[in-house]
Amino acid sequence: MKNHHGIVKSPLPRDDMSAPQRLISSHATVQKRWQEQLKMFKNHRWPGAHDLNPNPVSIFASKDSRGMSTHVNKYECKKCHRIFSASAVPGTICRGDFTKGKIPSRAKRAEIWSKCRKQAALKVVKYPTKKVKKQTKQTSKASKTLREITKAGIT
Ligand SMILES: [Zn+2]
Repeated sequence: MKNHHGIVKSPLPRDDMSAPQRLISSHATVQKRWQEQLKMFKNHRWPGAHDLNPNPVSIFASKDSRGMSTHVNKYECKKCHRIFSASAVPGTICRGDFTKGKIPSRAKRAEIWSKCRKQAALKVVKYPTKKVKKQTKQTSKASKTLREITKAGIT
C-alpha cells in the first residue's frame, strides 16, 4: 500500500561514504569550472598574464565570509613559478610572460577574469530551472485534490 500522498519513498544513502562522495563531486565541479575558465582565458589573455597550471599544487583549508569551512586551491604559474589562488591572478603581473602589448588596468583585468569565470560556471553548473517550480505546482495541486477527496468522504 502507498502512503496517503501516493509517493513511494526512495531509500536514502546511509553509508559513511555518501558524505565524502558528495564533497568530491562538488570539488570536481569546481575543478571542471576552473579548467573551463582557463580555456576561456586563453582567448582573452592580457600581456603579462600568468599562465596557471590547471591542476592545483595544494589545497588550503580556509573560511569563507560567513565563517564556513571551505578550501582554497593554489596553482603554480607555468611561466614565473609563483603560486596563486585563482582570484589573485588579475592582481599581479607575470614576470615570466613577455607577450608584447599594452597591459590593461587592474580593474579591467579583474573584469576579464571574472567574465571568464562566469561563462565557465554557466557551462559547468546546472542551475535549477522552471522544472522545479512545475513540480511544486503539481504537488500543491495534488494535495488540493486530496483535500477535496477527504471532504467528499466525510459528507
Ligand atoms: Zn606568472
